[in-house]
Amino acid sequence: MTSSLLINVKGIVQGVGFRPFVYRLAIHYGLNGWVLNSSKGVEIEIQGKREQIDAFLHELKHHPPPLAVIDTVEIREFQSPAHYDSFSILESRSDANEFIPISADISICDDCLTEMQNPADRRFRYPFINCTNCGPRFSIIKEIPYDRPKTTMADFQLCEDCLAEYSNPGDRRFHAQPVACPQCGPHVYLQKNGTTIAEKEDAIQLARAAIMEGQIIAIKGLGGYHIACDAKNTLALTKLRERKKRSDKPFALMAASIAVIKRYCHVSKTEEELLKSPQHPIVLLDRLPQNSLPKEIAPGQSTLGFMLPYTPLHVLLLDSSSDFTDLLIMTSGNLSEEPIAYSDDDALVRLSPMADLFLMHNRPIFMRVDDSVSREINGFESVLRRARGYAPAFLHFPFKSAPILAVGAGLKNTFCLTRDHQAFLSHHIGDLENYETLQSFEEGILHYEKLFRTSPKRIACDLHPDYLSTRYAVNRAENEQKPLLFVQHHHAHLAACLAENGWNDNRPVIGLLYDGTGMGSDGAIWGGEVFVGGFADFQRHYHLKYVPLVGGDLAVRKPARMALAYLWTNGYEWDSSFPCAQSLCMEDRTVIRSQLEKEINSPPTSSMGRLFDAVSAFLGVRQEVNYEGQAAIELENIVDHSERGCYPIEINVNEMDTKPLWGELIHDMQSGTALSIMAARFHNSIVQLSLSVSVNLRNLHGINTVALSGGVWQNKVLLTRTISLLQNNNFDVLWHKNIPANDGGVAYGQACIAAHSI
Ligand code: ZN
Ligand code: ZN
Ligand code: FE
Repeated sequence: MTSSLLINVKGIVQGVGFRPFVYRLAIHYGLNGWVLNSSKGVEIEIQGKREQIDAFLHELKHHPPPLAVIDTVEIREFQSPAHYDSFSILESRSDANEFIPISADISICDDCLTEMQNPADRRFRYPFINCTNCGPRFSIIKEIPYDRPKTTMADFQLCEDCLAEYSNPGDRRFHAQPVACPQCGPHVYLQKNGTTIAEKEDAIQLARAAIMEGQIIAIKGLGGYHIACDAKNTLALTKLRERKKRSDKPFALMAASIAVIKRYCHVSKTEEELLKSPQHPIVLLDRLPQNSLPKEIAPGQSTLGFMLPYTPLHVLLLDSSSDFTDLLIMTSGNLSEEPIAYSDDDALVRLSPMADLFLMHNRPIFMRVDDSVSREINGFESVLRRARGYAPAFLHFPFKSAPILAVGAGLKNTFCLTRDHQAFLSHHIGDLENYETLQSFEEGILHYEKLFRTSPKRIACDLHPDYLSTRYAVNRAENEQKPLLFVQHHHAHLAACLAENGWNDNRPVIGLLYDGTGMGSDGAIWGGEVFVGGFADFQRHYHLKYVPLVGGDLAVRKPARMALAYLWTNGYEWDSSFPCAQSLCMEDRTVIRSQLEKEINSPPTSSMGRLFDAVSAFLGVRQEVNYEGQAAIELENIVDHSERGCYPIEINVNEMDTKPLWGELIHDMQSGTALSIMAARFHNSIVQLSLSVSVNLRNLHGINTVALSGGVWQNKVLLTRTISLLQNNNFDVLWHKNIPANDGGVAYGQACIAAHSI
């Protein structure tokens, strides 16, 4: 007795080897029928014995190809008019209004790695080896359907051998669009002062020799250029910091193997899996106490950002079989806050002042994508920068709504487009503060709209009128006559955290929204916020008592000002023995005092980020920052992990008042308490405060779920201690995993709120 089934598989099932997988599976179980790609996903008709079909379905659902992400599998039994005596792969059917989600760029797979290292293989040491399980995707796709002519591989004609693999359903390279070999594919070359000085293997070897001599090399990667040098060469490191105009911000490292990383950092099982995952993100790892690496790599940090080689070219570069460093600095190819260079012309212009040599290749990058940054929190991944390897994979969007465009915030910008139950949260765009970044933001939105065949009917943006993203949204809504929704920044953070944790209805939760900056509904700068709310609305129950942000942006760059503002607000003297007072000259202090007294350029803020800054400055850890979050990060890094004490914070009606905390900090400071103890007590105070307000709200509203969102939660000490204290008190705690707690997640939250505001 034979049965016939029609199967429709949806999700990321195109360009990931799904059809050959189905083909091999069908052959294995002796089943007949066909498989094809259509606008609905992958469609299959299968005929054969019921038992075999069941086994086939089980394999299909549970062991799909590594890059496939199955969303749904619909199965329909039917009386097939046809009878098949074989299984075949049929021509794709496409529909101009439909789309198939496309895969992110994926690091080299084990099969390709083995081939590349086999002298008998025709792709031996070929830096562009790839297959349906690995290689470039999103960064080379110009248009869909995903076919070679619509990628930056269009100009490379497949040779006979490659074509044979490409056309053979049994081959790992069946319909692998970027397939290439030394005969027909791209190649690498090394340039100095605009002239090519070596090609192919010679280029790689010359680049390696230069690195060992302490030179700085620009290297073209998957989504953009890196600037690389030997991480163990202090002179090269110092030179790089000078040239890149980056004084303290940590550099990312690329290590030849896990074993190398373990020499310098503690690596848990989850962290090892993350490092080796198909995404190969930069993983933040705790530094081992006795480690010999130059401090110039990551000054003042207790963590290091490591990644493993993710393109074949990286593997060849870092080949440690001979006398070569096993550790490279691989920092993004840009000058301080600019976006990373990805086109060759742009790279040659912008990176020439930094790089002695350029290791380039002739496979164009269509979309700029930065390295992703991730880490482990309590056994789970928690992404801090979602880009290469992650975007443009869709997030679940469990709401009914016409397509939405949410434009995100100002710093660490991402945008989000929705279509049905899918949300396409963009890769990390960057800080929308210069023309280049604004341009990638605008181009990115248009590209996503085209790729995902969606045209927004409604637009959502931040309340802050001066964010360039808000201005874009306002203009576009006006030009296209589309409804525009302004979303309060921390409400968006809360919604993002709820949605990514699978929250799909309007039940309110307690939101602890600890953040740097976000425009409040009252016009003040919020950021130490305790909400009760859900997707549709929120109530602000508690907030840090306002203090003046004395000097506006200047107070963000100079935490010493925040410390003085906190002391002044709470009626404490600026004792000349305090490091924050010492760091500013007499004149500055006089100006600050008069700004405070006359309320000049001192908008009120409840920012938790600024409180961390103020304490960091007060303790003498950091008076002036060179990158966002530096003062708080350095404060976190000196915490004594065994200290359990904490300072009191008063909760008055709806204000959280740190006056008593400051009183005890001053007392500790004057009695010579160790900085590491004070830093620990401060962190513990915020953890304790989080519990107190949550308990109050549970008693008031009977709500037992607490969501943690906002940039301050990137602080691992604060995050892990708060989670465990809340859990020990029987709270359900939601925190960020797939999207960042920082402003990189705001766009997704805006979209969720927009879906509820009809
Ligand atoms: Zn592969
Ligand atoms: Zn070829
Ligand atoms: Fe924020």
